[in-house]
Amino acid sequence: MKNIILFGAPGAGKGTQSKMLVEKYDLAYISTGEILRNEIKNKTSLGLKAKEVMDKGMFVSDDIIVGMITNFIEKNHNKGILLDGFPRTVVQAEELDDILKNTHRENHLLVLSLNVPKEELMRRLLKRAEIEGRTDDNEQTIKERFNQYETKTLPVAEFYKKKQGVYFEVNGIGTLEQAFVHLCEIIDKN
Ligand code: AMP
Repeated sequence: MKNIILFGAPGAGKGTQSKMLVEKYDLAYISTGEILRNEIKNKTSLGLKAKEVMDKGMFVSDDIIVGMITNFIEKNHNKGILLDGFPRTVVQAEELDDILKNTHRENHLLVLSLNVPKEELMRRLLKRAEIEGRTDDNEQTIKERFNQYETKTLPVAEFYKKKQGVYFEVNGIGTLEQAFVHLCEIIDKN
């Protein structure tokens, strides 16, 4: 059973690659950001709270996010999973370790990091803003999202690098297909 974390900065292409991987490997998919955007669209109380934080480029609290992941994994107990946008803090990664242990998935984890230089990320996010109209894809918010990524999420990569044979990096600057082929090679070998 494959359990995959797709890791990378905002704009690295996690959403697009996830959708292709989910189809190829028949995985259950969760994007915490997508769930939050749906909550906002449906004007739920969580959505209203989350919007304020997300529009500033900050993170939603670990408790709320870990709750979402716990539900998701419980519902998909018989399937491999793909996590997009989670874990984003070391606390979330530690909580995930417990969840994976409790569901006997801890020895079947791959963390795939899509690496893209910052200037290219900024360019992609501003372009996405024009196409998708995400309210957090404006220059000011993007800067804060990078700041959160560098201070809170990069330590998550270090957390996984310490585990043997779990963490792999893929160049995310070529075409979509090139990155996809590399991701699949790593998944098939491990
Ligand atoms: P994304 O769609 O993954 O880029 O996420 C959009 C926004 O949702 C982020 O900038 C955060 O405000 C929030 N968010 C998504 N996932 C998480 C997470 N794992 N922890 C905290 N906040 C999150």
